[in-house]
Amino acid sequence: MTLPKIQMVDLQRQYQRLSCEIDKSINGCLQSADFIQGKAVRDFEQKLGQYLSSKHVISCGNGTDALMLALMALNLQKGDKVIVPAFTYIACVEVLKLLGLKPVYCDVDERYFMPDTTHIDAVYTPDCKAIIVVHLYGQSAKMEEFMNWANERNLFVIEDNAQAIGAQCVIDGQLKYSGTIGHISTTSFFPSKNLGAYGDGGAVFTQNENWAKKIKMIANHGQSSKYIHDIIGVNSRLDTIQAAILNVKLKYLKDFTVARQYVAKKYDDNLNSISVIQVPKRIASSTHVFHQYTIVLDNEDTRNQLQIFLKSKNIPSVIYYPMPIYRQKAYFQDIFLENTERLCQSVLSLPIHTEMSDGEIDYICDTIKSFFNV
Ligand SMILES: *Cc1c(COP(=O)(O)O)cnc(C)c1O
Repeated sequence: MTLPKIQMVDLQRQYQRLSCEIDKSINGCLQSADFIQGKAVRDFEQKLGQYLSSKHVISCGNGTDALMLALMALNLQKGDKVIVPAFTYIACVEVLKLLGLKPVYCDVDERYFMPDTTHIDAVYTPDCKAIIVVHLYGQSAKMEEFMNWANERNLFVIEDNAQAIGAQCVIDGQLKYSGTIGHISTTSFFPSKNLGAYGDGGAVFTQNENWAKKIKMIANHGQSSKYIHDIIGVNSRLDTIQAAILNVKLKYLKDFTVARQYVAKKYDDNLNSISVIQVPKRIASSTHVFHQYTIVLDNEDTRNQLQIFLKSKNIPSVIYYPMPIYRQKAYFQDIFLENTERLCQSVLSLPIHTEMSDGEIDYICDTIKSFFNV
């Protein structure tokens, strides 16, 4: 049996499937040469807003900029504290530091890889002004609890939805899309994300018109109209060509999600019986769009040996994330968060994408089983 080389994310095969439509869409943009803030950008913002039921969608250069724009719009002052999970991607903390804000790291629930309100409570002080909730690996954090907790204390909630676009979360008994619940939310269209462009891209979401206006201004040099600059801004815009690609891919987002959920279910069925593997636990209040399928091993040794074994069988795997953020040199704090530490030593993300065949999934599962002699 010959299989194509297994990838963490197979963007080549996905492109081959969609190439007719995507080439046509890019070509339309080339013909009209409206490369900056062209029609495809407005179309995409409108369609994505409709898809997620978000009143306002402001596209921008990438997911990191989106976080920065959100923080700038909230008018936080230098030295204000913002609570962030210590187990997440670096972008959240990077922008805090760039804006002179102080990250306050919180631990996470080991089952869901995300904090709940007890972890936030443990580090909260009244000088905290906002929290960044990261919907890690593809499911929504417990947003109803977060919103109640934050509203009682007058904190802003920023949702980092870069990994969970399309996930739905129960709020007031109703399903809402993640990224439409917090005060301001952000996402990334980095190629490997569930809704990925062919280069960088990002967006900011809010239901508040004033914030929306402000974010739009900041993302475009702080201008209210051409050459009129009322506030300090940046240059962070989604390319029209990227929007043209995303307009095609958005039509398939539901299918992409179903394809990822299918892979996850097959992994579950195969790996559940291996006692030293914890398969991803689902949060009752959220659906899961499986940006990552992340297993937890019983210790660092087993995890590292499994990864080496998989590699020897041509199966890639990635450790998201190998180090608590407070241990990174640039963001060091002398603290120790138990669950974060343990997860950094024991997580392993397996290949998952929209093009995976049964044969590939079976091969990966059989290889893992053979490693554990089951
Ligand atoms: C990818 C990602 C980002 C950053 O997005 P870029 O578009 O690469 O800047 C931010 N937060 C999380 C959780 C991410 O996964």
